[in-house]
Amino acid sequence: MTRNFLAIGECMVEMAPTGEGTYRLGFAGDTLNTAWYARRMLPEAWDVSYLTGVGRDSVSEEMLAFFEDAGIGTDLIQRFDDRTVGLYIIQLNDGERSFSYWRSDSAARQLARDRTRLDAALAASDVIYFSGITLAILPTEHRGGFLEAVKAARKRGATIAFDPNLRLRLWESVESMCASVMEAAAVSDIVLPSFEDEATFFGDVGPVDTANRYSEAGVPLVIVKNGPGEVLWQADGVPWTFQVPPVPEVVDTTAAGDSFNAAFLASHLQGADLEVSIAAGARLAAQVIGRRGALVEQPEAV
Ligand code: AMP
Repeated sequence: MTRNFLAIGECMVEMAPTGEGTYRLGFAGDTLNTAWYARRMLPEAWDVSYLTGVGRDSVSEEMLAFFEDAGIGTDLIQRFDDRTVGLYIIQLNDGERSFSYWRSDSAARQLARDRTRLDAALAASDVIYFSGITLAILPTEHRGGFLEAVKAARKRGATIAFDPNLRLRLWESVESMCASVMEAAAVSDIVLPSFEDEATFFGDVGPVDTANRYSEAGVPLVIVKNGPGEVLWQADGVPWTFQVPPVPEVVDTTAAGDSFNAAFLASHLQGADLEVSIAAGARLAAQVIGRRGALVEQPEAV
C-alpha cells in the first residue's frame, strides 16, 4: 500500500554567483530540501509530495518541472494567476555570502487561503512535515486555520513532524514567532529543533531545556539537533543522547538540519528504532555539509 509524505512550505528561485555578474538559477527552500532528501531516502512504496503555491509564468513552470524531475509530486500545488514564486540572490563579498530576498508577495504565502483545498490535501497524507518558515510566510490571518487543518489531519491519524526553524526576519516580532511555534508544536507528534536557534529566542540554557519545553507542550518525541554536539532526544519525557560523527571538513552547513530531518524521518517512518534513525539523520547531514550547496546529488547510502 502506498504511503504519502507531504512537505508544506515555500521553495524559492535561487540565484547563485558563478562569476563576475553571472548567476546560476536554482531552486531551494527548507521544506523543499527535506522533501528532496526524503524522496531519496524513502522506498518506492512512499509517495513524496510538496504543497506550496506557484504562479503560471515560465519560472513557476520550471520550478514544477524541477520537482517532478526529483520525483516529488506536484498535484497538490496551487497555481495563482496574479502571483509568482519568491526569489533570492546570493552575493559574495570577500568570501562572505549575503542574501537579498524578493518573497514578500510570493504565491507560496497563499497556500492556506483556500481551507477546503488545504483540508483535502492534508486528508490524502499519512505524514505531514512543515516548519516555522512555513508558518512565518503565511498572512497572520491564515495561520490559525492552517494549524487547525494540521490538527484535524492528526486526529484522522496522520503523523505530524515540525521543525521550528526560527528565522526572526520573517516574523512580526520575537513574541509572535515564539507563540506560533509553540502552537505548532502542540499539534505535532515529532518536533526537530536546532538548539542554537532555540537558545537565542527562547533563552534555553542547554538542549535539555529545549526538549523539556516541547515535551511540556505535549510533544511525544522531541529531537534537539546541536551542530557538531550531541543530538538530545526525548521520547515521552525520557532523555537520550547521540554523539554525531565528526566531519573532517565542513564546507557548507546549508541544509544540515533539513537533510537530517529527512533521513531521520525516512528511517523512523519505516519502523527503525530511534537511535538508528538519529544516526541516519546525522550521517546524511555529515555528507551534505561536506559538500557545497543545499541539495547534494547521490549521497552515499545512509
Ligand atoms: P544544526 O541544525 O546546525 O544543529 O545541525 C543539524 C545536524 O547536522 C546536526 O545534528 C549534525 O548531525 C549535523 N551537523 C551540523 N553541523 C555539524 C558539524 N560542524 N559537524 C558535524 N555534524 C554537524
